[in-house]
Order: sequence, then structure tokens, then C-alpha cells
Amino acid sequence: MATKKKPVSVVTGGAGFLGSHLTDRLLAEGLRVIALDNLITGNTDNLAHLAGNPDFSFIKQDVTNYLYLPGPVDYVFHFASPASPIDYLEIPIQTLKVGSLGTHNALGLAKAKGAKFFLASTSECYGDPLVHPQTEDYWGNVNPIGPRGCYDEAKRFAEAITMAYHRHHKVDTHIVRIFNTYGPRMRLRDGRVVPAFIGQALKGQPLTVFGKGQQTRSFCYCSDLIDGIYRLSQVDYHEPVNIGNPTEFTILDFGKLVLKMTGSKSKFVYKPLPTDDPKQRRPDITKAKKLLGWEPKVKLEDGLKQTIEYFRDKV
Ligand code: NAD
Ligand code: UDP
Repeated sequence: MATKKKPVSVVTGGAGFLGSHLTDRLLAEGLRVIALDNLITGNTDNLAHLAGNPDFSFIKQDVTNYLYLPGPVDYVFHFASPASPIDYLEIPIQTLKVGSLGTHNALGLAKAKGAKFFLASTSECYGDPLVHPQTEDYWGNVNPIGPRGCYDEAKRFAEAITMAYHRHHKVDTHIVRIFNTYGPRMRLRDGRVVPAFIGQALKGQPLTVFGKGQQTRSFCYCSDLIDGIYRLSQVDYHEPVNIGNPTEFTILDFGKLVLKMTGSKSKFVYKPLPTDDPKQRRPDITKAKKLLGWEPKVKLEDGLKQTIEYFRDKV
């Protein structure tokens, strides 16, 4: 039986990759969770294991529309947003709306309920960064009118309105800038490099390397990310904090590792580099280390092993 005293959290985007892992963590910490999701890029399969859990409920809802929930709410975790370049190229208006109107509604809900608010922001706020590794005080190098602008600028607006609600309405807000995170429950075909390469390798298809594959990314396993997020939600700190794994790879080297770990004989095929694709990305996590006593623990090989096992059943 759910006890009435358990704190209640709302997770927007709760049927997505990260939202569903966060939901699991919050339930494990003894909270109740209400997941809101319109399923535009998410899937209730990610929450199927929670069926019958009295502390969990799911509401199919577009968070760009007014949010009404009866009863107390202690935390609002705003994770709803397309997150893959393919997704936000296909649905740019929804991406802009969920980052702007959706964030406004989620903040309004937090304000009305006296709840803590938590924004899932992104390393894309730094754009194609001229500072490396990226520290939180870097303002970024974003092309507002390029194809990625719909995502980057929506998230930058989301950060701005979150800080305005904090300063003006005194809402207890938190902002995490998430760097490339991977793991089970990503969609095989969402276009991000981890599922793309693993799916191609498992199917014996060529791995589609964009550009020459010399651009870099730093990959964080989902359990590490969720641990950093949970810790951040528990401290009295309101400015953005980077959470990610600082071990940096070129995309080509990452592809070679996927081939080795899947035992695949696939080759590489080179495709044009998408417009404004950041050339380098690595988080400076000094702030997270000091503030949260957090750093990632899962090595890429170990996280990839779990992720490859998950995708074996899906290809
Ligand atoms: P995802 O696509 O798996 O999850 C996003 C979820 O939001 C989906 O379930 C989708 O259906 C839902 N959603 C989108 N628009 C909605 C709307 N208007 N109303 C209700 N639900 C809506 O992606 P993810 O990787 O889990 O990303 C989750 C969050 O983390 C996003 O805000 C994303 O910007 C952020 N983020 C993720 C990464 C990463 O590497 N995974 C990196 C940076 C930031
Ligand atoms: N990428 C690639 N092949 C793919 C998908 C992505 O080479 O099939 C590259 C992409 O150009 C980028 C990096 O991998 O440089 C990471 O892409 P992803 O879509 O995962 O996320 P991003 O970090 O760009 O948001």
C-alpha cells in the first residue's frame, strides 16, 4: 500500500529513455511518481515493469498544454523533449514548444504546488564549443537559425525561464546540463550514435560515420547520470551543473570499439557531417565533484556491454 506521507514527484517525459530510469530511481528512493508523457518519442514499454506498483501512475499528456494535477506535488522533474538530432529535425516545432511552453507549464505546476523544480538541460547549450572541456560558465557558440537551433535555443530559453522563476517567484529550481548519455531503453532507430552503431554492427550493416569521424563525444552510462541527477536534486544549488563522463572519444574510435565489442565484421561508410555538428564535446565536471561528491563509475566497455545485450533482442 502506498502511504500518504511519501513525497510525490512528477516526471515529464517519464516514458522516455532517461525519464523512465529516473522514475525507477525515485521509486527506489521511496517517492511516489506520476509520469506525464505524450509518447511522441517515448514508449510505455519503458514503464511496463511498473504496472501494478501503487506508488506509480502514468498520464498520457502533452505538457505544452496546461497542466492540472490534484493533490500535493513535492518535485517536478521536467525531462520531456525530443533529444536526438533526427527527432528534432523531424519535429522542430514540437521541440521548440516543449522546451518553451512545456517548461513554462512545468514551472507553473511547481510554483502552484510549492514543489522543487528540476530541468533536464543539455550540453547543446554550449553549441559547437570554442572552450574545451566545457565549463558551466561558458556561454556557448550556438547558431540560433541552424537546423539544431530548435533544440539548442529551446533549452537555452528553458534555462532562462527556470532562472527567472527562481529569482522572481523564488521557486527552488535545479538545472542539469546532460552530456551524451546512453544505455538500455534508447530507441534502436532514434538516430543517436550509440544505438545507430550498435544496431548496424549487430545487423552486419556498415556503420554510418558522419564526416571523417574525428569529432569527439564523451559518453556517460545512464545509471551514473541518474545518480548525479538525484544528488543534484537534493542540494541547495540553483545554477546549471554539468553531468557527464569526461572520457572523450573520436566517433571513429567509438565505432571501432562497438565493432570489437559486438564481434561484428561491419565496415565504415562515410556520410556528410550534419550542419553545425559540434566538433568536440567533453564536460568539465569539477563542479559536480565538489558539490555532489559525484563522478561517473561505469567504464564505457561495461556500459556498452549492457547496452549491446539490450539491443540484441531488438534488432
Ligand atoms: P527520449 O526521447 O527518450 O525522452 C523524451 C520523452 O519526452 C519521450 O518519452 C517523449 O515522448 C516525451 N515528450 C516529448 N515532448 C513531449 C510533450 N510535449 N509532452 C509530453 N511528453 C513529451 O529522450 P531522452 O534521451 O530520455 O531525453 C530526456 C531529456 O534529457 C530531454 O529533455 C533531453 O533534452 C535531455 N537530454 C538527454 C541527453 C541524452 O544524452 N540522452 C543529453 C542531453 C539532454
Ligand atoms: N554520428 C555518426 N553516425 C551516426 C549518428 C551520429 O557519425 O549514425 C555522429 C554525429 O555526427 C555526432 C556524434 O556522432 O558527431 C554524436 O551524435 P548523436 O546524434 O549521438 O548526438 P549529438 O552529440 O550530436 O547530439
